[in-house]
Amino acid sequence: MRCPCNSGESFEGCCAKYLQGIEGGTVVYPPTAEALMRSRYTAFARGDVSYLLRTWHPDTKPASLELDPDQQWYSLEILSTSRGGYFDDDGVVSFRASYRSAANRKLRDSLTETSSFTRQGKQWLYLAALEIH
Ligand SMILES: [Zn+2]
Repeated sequence: MRCPCNSGESFEGCCAKYLQGIEGGTVVYPPTAEALMRSRYTAFARGDVSYLLRTWHPDTKPASLELDPDQQWYSLEILSTSRGGYFDDDGVVSFRASYRSAANRKLRDSLTETSSFTRQGKQWLYLAALEIH
């Protein structure tokens, strides 16, 4: 199975280890803001609410999160990134995520968002949407 984040890798070789949080007995985190963004998109696509909440900054995290089961995320495109690298503590990622209706697969739309991320220790966290189009 290909990873939902459109990396071209298999799910197992890409975001699975981040969603599981562990690989070969070692705790693993996405190394960059973009990798975290991709893994969160994959979590949206797979309905993994617990991963979305645990990668959300405590200051902006909602008390609970309910995903719309009719929204099927089928494509992710990273438009640009700024900072968010191995030696940064913050970063910005712009992306376009596309979805369709489960009830009527011809109904499609996309979300273009610029998100900010911050790093706490080894862990990148989603902070906020700076811009949504
Ligand atoms: Zn992935």
